[in-house]
Amino acid sequence: MATSKIFQHGTLGLLVPGLYDGTITAGELLTHGDTGIGTLDGLNGEVIILDGHAYQAREDGQVREIDATETLPFASVHFEAPQHTAKLQQLNQAAFQQQVQADYQLTNVFAAVRVDGLFKHIKTRVAPHQVKPYQSLVAATAKQPEFEGTNVQGTIIGYFAPHLFQGATVGGFHLHFLSADHQLGGHLLDFEIDQAQLKVQNFADFQVHLPIDNADYLTEKFDNATIDAAINQAER
Ligand SMILES: [Zn+2]
Repeated sequence: MATSKIFQHGTLGLLVPGLYDGTITAGELLTHGDTGIGTLDGLNGEVIILDGHAYQAREDGQVREIDATETLPFASVHFEAPQHTAKLQQLNQAAFQQQVQADYQLTNVFAAVRVDGLFKHIKTRVAPHQVKPYQSLVAATAKQPEFEGTNVQGTIIGYFAPHLFQGATVGGFHLHFLSADHQLGGHLLDFEIDQAQLKVQNFADFQVHLPIDNADYLTEKFDNATIDAAINQAER
């Protein structure tokens, strides 16, 4: 059931003041897409969704598959049907992002980006599990475990969004990683591609599904300047 849209539950902005309660089940999320990224209830780690399976990279470095009943405050998914594929080799993160944005004219476009292959170097971080009363995103992610690997086989999955949508989501690239052996995962901080295959999927439609039954969401006073600064600090 391929559709040409991104389905996003929640906003990146709602994480900024600390609205970390899960408001959609993984089971429901997976009815809207088989591929994507997110975080779990309580900002508990980094979520990577590949081929219809959702995984959690935990702050202790373990990776596990998520049960259908677990909940997420924020996630983006789509059904994988890439329009473009290409072979990549010997590219660092900055060169990769510049090349992909230019080659596929992504600047004003929503796109999913997937890279499968061998990576010379991978560096991830994993948001630590929060308990109530929740701290802000910047405070919650001020100290977070980082993980590194060299010569790792695995998959980068994530999105490019136009900067106009910073706050609703992350403007620019937002990428997660999962190794093929499920020993390394998380939010990508740095990487270097050895040999890999790139898939790019453009979307004309960006669907935002809001947690309108969540009392904290309904009463929060969101501030755009705070959200923008927090995303730049916590999500890049
Ligand atoms: Zn992330």
